[in-house]
Amino acid sequence: MNEFIMDKLSVNGKNIIVTGGAQGIGKCAAETLAQCGANVGILDVNIGLADAVAAEINAQSGGKAVANSGGKAAANSGGKTAAYSCDVTDSSMVTQAFAAFTSDFGALDAVFNNAGIVTHNGAEDVGDDEWKKVIDVNLNGVFYVAREAARCFIGAGKGGSIVNMASMSGVIVNIPQQQASYNASKAAVIQLTKSLAVEWADKGIRVNCLSPGYIATEMTGKLRGDWKSFWESLIPFKRMGRPDELVGALVYLMSDASSYTSGLNMVIDGGFTCV
Ligand code: NDP
Repeated sequence: MNEFIMDKLSVNGKNIIVTGGAQGIGKCAAETLAQCGANVGILDVNIGLADAVAAEINAQSGGKAVANSGGKAAANSGGKTAAYSCDVTDSSMVTQAFAAFTSDFGALDAVFNNAGIVTHNGAEDVGDDEWKKVIDVNLNGVFYVAREAARCFIGAGKGGSIVNMASMSGVIVNIPQQQASYNASKAAVIQLTKSLAVEWADKGIRVNCLSPGYIATEMTGKLRGDWKSFWESLIPFKRMGRPDELVGALVYLMSDASSYTSGLNMVIDGGFTCV
């Protein structure tokens, strides 16, 4: 008899880091993983908001809010959430935040490598600093976080799951907005995911990525209403997605139910890229 699939489709008791978890998709992911019994570390540049989200999640789950000071959370165990100050473009901050999390919770099991930014300018008007910033957060930051996760897994003598945040923008070109830097960064994340999946396969480290279509978050909430109406006219579902429509896939990719899955780019876009 096979093992009951719902026993494998679980993150209960896992220690999981979520980058960019203070709002948007990352916040929804942190809430969901905590609801599912994981210990969650929220790494974000906005530590004030990240602390508040951790406190909110702990209050909802009956856990204790964790005081944060300079990226160091209080010791904790069992389905708790803590926030850590971290700019993913600073690899030493990434190392420190991971060390603080594993010191607080124990060996790392999975990472949602989600922090990202977007800017909108015609390519001819994009300055060096803007280009470098988008690549730095969306590609370099994703690499630093994945590398740190792999070092933790290998150091602990175990495997683990890394889920990178790509985007459908890694495979299509969005219109009408101009965002070449973002599209290039997300295409790179998809190929980085496949590369790391192959490199680390023999270490038991699985690396996959999510490629959402248009999702209603703080990031897209700031954008022009006429763009959103246009996007919705193009999406077969005729609406943007919600963060909670992504996180089931995240739980699956972090669980033992996906033990043979690595290098996958899971597109979740209401059918956008089918047409
Ligand atoms: P949000 O802007 O709503 O949230 C992103 C979070 O990441 C914010 O808390 C932000 O902090 C934080 N962050 C930004 N830069 C850094 C950094 N250098 N280090 C650590 N944290 C950082 O974005 P979404 O939730 O919409 O997007 C999350 C991810 O999903 C991104 O990678 C995005 O590209 C991707 N995505 C989003 C889609 C969408 O339609 N929303 C579609 C496809 C992919 P602060 O606000 O202070 O900068």
